[in-house]
Amino acid sequence: MFIYLLFIYGIFLGSFYNVVGLRVPLKQSIVTPRSACPTCGHQLKPYELIPVISYLLQGGKCRGCQSRISPIYPIFELLTGLLFAIAPLVIGWSGELVVALTLISMFMIIIVSDIHYMIIPDKILIWFAGIFLLERIIWPLTPWWDSLLGAVTGFSLLLLIALISKGGMGFGDVKLYALLGLVLGFKLVILSFFLSTLYGAVIGGLALLFRIVKRRQPIPFGPFIAAGTLTAYYWGPKMIDLYLQFLNQGF
Ligand SMILES: [Zn+2]
Repeated sequence: MFIYLLFIYGIFLGSFYNVVGLRVPLKQSIVTPRSACPTCGHQLKPYELIPVISYLLQGGKCRGCQSRISPIYPIFELLTGLLFAIAPLVIGWSGELVVALTLISMFMIIIVSDIHYMIIPDKILIWFAGIFLLERIIWPLTPWWDSLLGAVTGFSLLLLIALISKGGMGFGDVKLYALLGLVLGFKLVILSFFLSTLYGAVIGGLALLFRIVKRRQPIPFGPFIAAGTLTAYYWGPKMIDLYLQFLNQGF
């Protein structure tokens, strides 16, 4: 029952996160003006703002000018709802679930900003730094200083790579990883980076192979960081155990 509620809650928040991710980098208010059709400027009425449902009822078209609305919007909203609904199945119904939902929320906003503008806004990171700090005080890692060690590790690791790659990795990613270290701790932040890079290399390689992107065209790294981090956060401890078992049997 609660899972369905989380799903619906996630869909509505996903719609809001999309607005936040689009407007914050442009320094626009997230409340006003009301959302409007980018083609004809038709202001959306409350019944046109219901996530997913409005899109389906209108057949994916604007009521004002009949121009097509990108299916990216309902897909993004559904994805947020799904991630919200899956979280308690992995994490369980504990305080840590709050941390998980916060993590998903931050990633959804960052993905929108990163895909549209290739930036991770400082304002978003500062906002979530405050929330995560508070959450890790209420629900600390064991030992608690693993958060401190994780933040330093995430920051140093990404800074080193940003310096070596000379612009291949942005400074926004460095700051994001300091924050992820605080949430995940030392071991999982390293695993998160390893998995994000792996996902990025595989998907980026495929995109290049099928000529979806051009060589040397910069790819937003945010979606891969989100996927890598959630994998590490959900299944990292199990993955590390399996890996150590494998090493032990090898010798
Ligand atoms: Zn329109």
